Amino acid sequence: MLKFDVIIIGGGAAGFFAALIARSSGQTVAILEKTAVLLSKVRISGGGRCNVTHACFDPAKLVKNYPRGEKELLGPFHRFGPKDTIEWFESRGAFLKVEEDGRIFPTTDSSETIIQVLLAEAKELGVEIFLRQRIERIEKGFVIHANDRFEAKKMILATGSSKDGFAWAEQFGHTIQKPVPSLFTFNVPNSPLAELSGVCFEKVKLSVGSFSQTGPLLITHFGFSGPASLKLSAWAARYLYEQNYNVDLQIDWMPGCDTYTVLVELKNRLPNRTLLLENPFYFPKNFWKVFLAKFNDKRLNDFSLKELEEISKKIHKDIYVVNGKTTNKEEFVTCGGVTLKEVNFKTMESKICPGLYFAGEILDIDGITGGFNFQNAWTTGFIAGGLQ
Ligand SMILES: Cc1cc2nc3c(=O)[nH]c(=O)nc-3n(C[C@H](O)[C@H](O)[C@H](O)COP(=O)(O)OP(=O)(O)OC[C@H]3O[C@@H](n4cnc5c(N)ncnc54)[C@H](O)[C@@H]3O)c2cc1C
Repeated sequence: MLKFDVIIIGGGAAGFFAALIARSSGQTVAILEKTAVLLSKVRISGGGRCNVTHACFDPAKLVKNYPRGEKELLGPFHRFGPKDTIEWFESRGAFLKVEEDGRIFPTTDSSETIIQVLLAEAKELGVEIFLRQRIERIEKGFVIHANDRFEAKKMILATGSSKDGFAWAEQFGHTIQKPVPSLFTFNVPNSPLAELSGVCFEKVKLSVGSFSQTGPLLITHFGFSGPASLKLSAWAARYLYEQNYNVDLQIDWMPGCDTYTVLVELKNRLPNRTLLLENPFYFPKNFWKVFLAKFNDKRLNDFSLKELEEISKKIHKDIYVVNGKTTNKEEFVTCGGVTLKEVNFKTMESKICPGLYFAGEILDIDGITGGFNFQNAWTTGFIAGGLQ
């Protein structure tokens, strides 16, 4: 029997960070990892660059980026937030930079920098790591039957979105919010815009059901991508799953603009010019051409007010039929997991099973894209690993 003060199941970002914190407070610590590699998601994250966290330093604002976990993360972010993450990594030699949109990456643009710092720290502190562990069962107390038999009074489940972790949480009395994907892009088969793949918009408003998000949009050959669609996929993750990813996506191409008045004024001012060439909303030219296709190319004077109203309505309520989704390779997460009200967020300990703790994506917490998901892993890992 191998005995430790703390045993952590899962060697991802959350489990690893929890292990470092626990060990630095003097406890004996072991990580049991199923695969042959640690931190595998960190390695592929952010397109291989690892978006470590986000430059949002006010916890009240930071929590607004979590469709699930907003209320629960407020206290934890006051204890360990993005500033602490930056300080932790930089004080160990992994220097970070903030990009224009607030995302934070290592200055090397390589996730390997983050991994090396974490691995070096674990080695220096003496965290014991057991790879390729096949955990057959876990007894309360805790006795873990894996390749060897392990025992610890405190066990942290940090298995991400793995079914095993959810099953153990259930075994110890927890309920699991059904796991469904979040952070994906929308497929629009036969989209009239498909030929415009690569065209970007700085600010559109996207809506499905009762959910809306505003931001940049990218037209792709299969549908829509970009920050606005990723954000919408996160906030509406469960609704979209329930609709089997078959919904009407409504696009407002000019949110907040009184386009009808602009069109009427233009008709009065430049009656002999064509609407196509005037392009009063400065849309990408090829988009405007496709958008106006059904109205033919004619002089503004030849447009009736009814037609201008129709164009205006279409600008604000353009409908595309979504059928399916595509995985966003830069970052995706699972919506769902251990029910949050069953966990004490001051310690990350289960309210149901004393000695059992949770950290990271196993919880029903997920953020939008931009470094928020790792920040959840660092923060909940920090608290779960701490001395209580
Ligand atoms: C392609 C991609 C890119 C991403 N990029 C970013 C990014 O740039 N920024 C960001 O903030 N977020 C990003 N994310 C999300 C982020 O990676 C996750 O939110 C984060 O890794 C969650 O950490 P975790 O430790 O909770 O879970 P994981 O990283 O999933 O780690 C769980 C660990 O548990 C192990 N495990 C599972 N089952 C068992 C078992 N039975 N026994 C033992 N061990 C087990 C797994 O092998 C794994 O090592 C990305 C995700 C993906 C998929």
